[in-house]
Amino acid sequence: MEQTFIMIKPDGVQRGLVGEIICRFEKKGFTLKGLKLQTVERSFAEKHYEDLSKKPFFGGLVEYIISGPVVAMIWEGKNVVATGRKIIGATNPAESAPGTIRGDYAVEIGRNIIHGSDAVESARKEIGLWFPEGPANWQSSLHPWIYE
Ligand code: UDP
Ligand code: MG
Repeated sequence: MEQTFIMIKPDGVQRGLVGEIICRFEKKGFTLKGLKLQTVERSFAEKHYEDLSKKPFFGGLVEYIISGPVVAMIWEGKNVVATGRKIIGATNPAESAPGTIRGDYAVEIGRNIIHGSDAVESARKEIGLWFPEGPANWQSSLHPWIYE
């Protein structure tokens, strides 16, 4: 089953949106396979965003991510990478549809409260970086009520 890496950024934690965000993924029918609250080092944040290191906003992005604790999660389910991105909404909250997490709770691109892997391959890399111990090993008893 597909997995994705979701991170509630420091603004999402500070604004008390952890429960609300987890709720959306849970209610959709996805399964939580990893969860931790963590403040990361600068070098770790730079590694997570290494593909963006040439972008003009990279410095500010790294400062933002290390500014407080984040909630790192692994979510599992059919098409969870692409569907997770839909639940999150467009990168710029000004363009995120209402009903998406960023559309409902964020205003600016540099304070967009949540990260989600953009492809199955990046999800695999990000899960490996954030959860070297691997995902939790459990199966939800709701499975037959969500999948046919
Ligand atoms: N970002 C920013 N300014 C920009 C583009 C991106 O501050 O012009 C930040 C924003 O927080 C975004 C993160 O950099 O979530 C990673 O950018 P990416 O293009 O990967 O967007 P995402 O995958 O998070 O939607
Ligand atoms: Mg991205």
